[in-house]
Amino acid sequence: MWTMRTGHATYDDERVFSSSTSSSTSSPIRAGGGGREAPLLYPPLSDFLRTHVHLAHAQERKPPVVFDIDDTLVWNRGEDDVPIPQMVSLFKECVDLGFPTYVVTARNEKWRKETTRLMASLKTGLPVNETTLLMRRRGEDADSSKHDHRSTIADRHGQILFSVGDQWWDLGRRIPRDVDREAPVVVVFFDNKQLKMGAKLPFVGED
Ligand SMILES: [Mg+2]
Repeated sequence: MWTMRTGHATYDDERVFSSSTSSSTSSPIRAGGGGREAPLLYPPLSDFLRTHVHLAHAQERKPPVVFDIDDTLVWNRGEDDVPIPQMVSLFKECVDLGFPTYVVTARNEKWRKETTRLMASLKTGLPVNETTLLMRRRGEDADSSKHDHRSTIADRHGQILFSVGDQWWDLGRRIPRDVDREAPVVVVFFDNKQLKMGAKLPFVGED
């Protein structure tokens, strides 16, 4: 397990785990937290994940990679979605290198049109469609939905290289007990068929 302490984010685990729509933002589209920026965290985390992408590429492997949207590819600032450059750049690099690249979001399926528009605006090179943009269906909670989508991806391509997001459910299930939940960034390595690595960015909520 790899953790990093470079910020001062705090977590509210109850809030993180209690609801599939734990949004503290004003928009009903968004499923994640809002956000005070944590700019120091993105360069080292994206570099860390990029290293694993390039290692796999050097080994001529193309495992799938999974990205969350809110507070991962974009910050939610009021009504605006502001791209997080380092994460968008990592995403593009995965697409360019030919890795099966997926977006798994807890945004509800009913917001597909708006979310597709957002993803298109990031100009990542990924064709955004029902295969690559996996959303939460009606009646599903975020944890189950994301787990099921990752299972589908792993069944299709094999073990996922990493899943990155700002919620614990982005890391996968059965997170080891000794994970430091207070660390601003947490990377967990798994030994299972579905997921090799889960990376958690801060859930910082509104100021
Ligand atoms: Mg999120």
